[in-house]
Amino acid sequence: MAVDPKTVYAIAKTAISVVTDEENRRKLVIIIFIPLIVVLLILCILVYILTSPLSFIENFFLSNEENIAMREFKAAYEDTVGLNMGELELIFHGDYPMPARGEITSPYGYRTHPITGEYKMHTGIDIGTAWHSEIISIADGQVVKIGVDRGYGQYIIIKHDTEEESFYSVYAHLSKIFILPDAEVKQGEVIALEGGEPEKDPLPGMSTGHHLHFEIRKSLSARSHTDPAKYLFTASDKNDEKSLDETEKQENND
Ligand SMILES: [Zn+2]
Repeated sequence: MAVDPKTVYAIAKTAISVVTDEENRRKLVIIIFIPLIVVLLILCILVYILTSPLSFIENFFLSNEENIAMREFKAAYEDTVGLNMGELELIFHGDYPMPARGEITSPYGYRTHPITGEYKMHTGIDIGTAWHSEIISIADGQVVKIGVDRGYGQYIIIKHDTEEESFYSVYAHLSKIFILPDAEVKQGEVIALEGGEPEKDPLPGMSTGHHLHFEIRKSLSARSHTDPAKYLFTASDKNDEKSLDETEKQENND
């Protein structure tokens, strides 16, 4: 195919005049680069959404994560657990006593982590107690693990075998441990002292202030955590039961 040299020359001349003319060059830059930058930005946002879908969507849509966590918690328990937004007083209906004397300061379930700020699962309950107060084993069992973890600080895991099931209780942010691995423990036995006070307690773990972090697990795996509310009863429940027993006894005596 023959190309007319005059046409080629005309095209080249126009192209050169476009590129050399200051005004046209600026237009060319605007026409090419602005859409390019917009496309790149859209691609970056898409990649960001695709690589971190959950946290992105959660952070984007949840304006008040804590309120949502509270609502979810209430919806899950309805009448079985009492929840006061102020004091966060929970009523548990399990078979085992609380591992420490104190108030529940953070329930099991989704929450905004006090240190990392991430909206994620809280795998146990936090009990606010007097500093270095005694921690008891919630049931007879055997110590299967004593360890230190970046998050948990010093911790103990005890295995409990009942007729119905085997489960594990986990006690974290401990300042002092009184038992040894493989030891047999009795229900109510003091196994450790509470801790987790940053810069004061040894190996506090990820903690803003001293407290006991307590978990129930179905196996040794950290992922097998389950709601401690199903296993524990509170001190007030215990008092109620005790007073009931006493009333019954008195009635029987009469
Ligand atoms: Zn905790």
